[in-house]
Amino acid sequence: MSLPVAERWFETKRLDATTTLLLEPHVHILEQANMFLIEGRDRDVILDSGMGVAPLRPVLDALRADPAKPLAHVASHAHIDHIGGVHEFGERLIHPAEADDMAEPKGIRSLRSADFAPETRQMFLDAGYPPLWELLIDAVPWEGYDPDAYLLQGAPATGLLEEGDAVDLGDRVFEVLHLPGHSPGGIGLWEAETGVLFSGDAIYDGPLIPVEPAVYARTLRRLRDLPVSIVHGGHDPSFGRDRLRAIVDACLPKLEAAPG
Ligand SMILES: [Zn+2]
Ligand SMILES: [Zn+2]
Repeated sequence: MSLPVAERWFETKRLDATTTLLLEPHVHILEQANMFLIEGRDRDVILDSGMGVAPLRPVLDALRADPAKPLAHVASHAHIDHIGGVHEFGERLIHPAEADDMAEPKGIRSLRSADFAPETRQMFLDAGYPPLWELLIDAVPWEGYDPDAYLLQGAPATGLLEEGDAVDLGDRVFEVLHLPGHSPGGIGLWEAETGVLFSGDAIYDGPLIPVEPAVYARTLRRLRDLPVSIVHGGHDPSFGRDRLRAIVDACLPKLEAAPG
């Protein structure tokens, strides 16, 4: 199969003076995750790194006000669409429950949709995602790129982030929230002073994937009570508190009806 060459692999959108959203528009919507570059006074953070189809680090360094500043990779969790570029960074932080997964990914590691288990594909359809393509991409980053040669590369954590830990950028401090249910070690970054929440796949404005329904329900109830001003999710556009509550209220009854 021959795919067209993308004009550029990453789409970037500055959300405010210090926050930039990056996306991979040529990845199927199911695996098209948000990456957030958060620039601080002393340190920058990249929250998640997409699929790892094309190098991310040079793109970030071109965007950063000071590319010489330390840059840490924080993984919201260890799914393929969030840790693809983690190996490009020297400082790699994740919750302990998914550190092994990031070091040696155990889930799908290829771009071939057929490598998902049939039950998993059915779960995505049931959640409301459109059917997968044969490959997870509809373009290649450069001429001659071989999608069959793609292999998700993990990397071991250099530090661990647990509930209540601080991610300190110098002039801003984010608190780590442990938000399990989609995955065991899902974390969010919460800035109480501004009400800004980076939520990973614990909540976003699209079809949610509850892997452990009862645990997920607890996480959603917790999120519903947070005085957020804006939520930057792991997928889909950002949203405010009313939408957060509407998403939770639509999802909770389904979780409560689910077995387990
Ligand atoms: Zn995701
Ligand atoms: Zn995920």
